[in-house]
Amino acid sequence: MKATFNPPVRTLMGPGPSDVSPRVLSAMARPTIGHLDPEFIRMMDEIKEMLQLLFKTKSPLTMPVSAPGSAGMEACFVNLVEPGDKVVVCQNGVFGGRMKENVERFGGEAIMVQDDWGKPVDLDKVEKALADNDNVKALAFVHAETSTGVRSDAESLCALAQKYGCLSIVDAVTSLGGIDVDMDGWGIDAIYSGTQKCLSCPPGISPVAFGEKAIDAVKNRKTPVPSWFLDKNLVMGYWGGGGKRAYHHTAPVNSLYALHESLVMLHEEGMENAWQRHQLHHDALRAGLEAMGVNFLVDEECRLPQLNTVFVPEGVDEAEVRTRLLNEYSLEIGAGLGALAGKVWRIGLMGSACNRRNVMFCLSALENTLSSMNAPITRGVAALAAEAVYNA
Ligand SMILES: *Cc1c(COP(=O)(O)O)cnc(C)c1O
Repeated sequence: MKATFNPPVRTLMGPGPSDVSPRVLSAMARPTIGHLDPEFIRMMDEIKEMLQLLFKTKSPLTMPVSAPGSAGMEACFVNLVEPGDKVVVCQNGVFGGRMKENVERFGGEAIMVQDDWGKPVDLDKVEKALADNDNVKALAFVHAETSTGVRSDAESLCALAQKYGCLSIVDAVTSLGGIDVDMDGWGIDAIYSGTQKCLSCPPGISPVAFGEKAIDAVKNRKTPVPSWFLDKNLVMGYWGGGGKRAYHHTAPVNSLYALHESLVMLHEEGMENAWQRHQLHHDALRAGLEAMGVNFLVDEECRLPQLNTVFVPEGVDEAEVRTRLLNEYSLEIGAGLGALAGKVWRIGLMGSACNRRNVMFCLSALENTLSSMNAPITRGVAALAAEAVYNA
């Protein structure tokens, strides 16, 4: 016989999942009810309203897809890309590469705009790709590249999509809740996010919204959407509102309680306040790390506050540091991916994990661990530098 699984209590400061607040965890433990129960449907309507506020959209096709962020990505591409469609895909990290995969698997042609990992998407290169190619169906890019900690200029990229008459598909998995995302203001046509980054929910749900032009594109497809589960035409019957809900699939009832609670918390705090909180704790963490002699990969003007990518000091075995942080402090930080593997750490300050206690704890754990490994860092200054930011 196996015993009950009791996970250790960790502090999650990696690239996701982030710490889930006790309020959200206890919401999840409430009694399961039927997914067509009128009370459940009332809650679904509230989730939709709160997601519309968060995405800053009036789009009726705003819903949580019952699967993780990757499924939100797939929902956008499988509905909007038909065989032969050209899509300009911006890649400056891991997730742009996944967009390319999606486009190609659904029979589209991905026209790649490549930028270095650690740099934002270059607007001039995107404009050139849009100008050089006829009949581009969509421009796809990642707003907040979690593999590097870079913020790209979503507003200007969407303006380019509009200038060249194509749809915009935006990955907001890590941006939503941590920095401003303005679907209607920027003219985003299709957007997806995830629950486990700055919304601080357990992983497994992907908020998605399609604007009017994207809905028209789905309705006017020449071929049926090749995924039954993610076909927006079908899911609309369940999430579309208008009073009547038809069975499509059994919603992950308790996970949606969690999403509801996290959205209530976010709106209680206020979105602007949440963004400011992410910026403040990022500033404190940055001051501490830089005082210690640990430097950032990304230029200041395009750094994400919620994902801090820093260079591993000379001669340090980065995997050993992460193992020791986990074993000795129960603290999780992230490793580098792809070309950055072994060279950087990714320190998340997402959602509930983004607080003063975590910043001070992480600085102290990292300083102690690096010191004990004789890493070339300056001791005794990180906490003071971070506190100076809080006391300013
Ligand atoms: C985490 C992440 C995803 C994938 O989300 P999952 O919930 O892991 O499927 C997609 N895009 C970006 C930018 C991410 O950070």
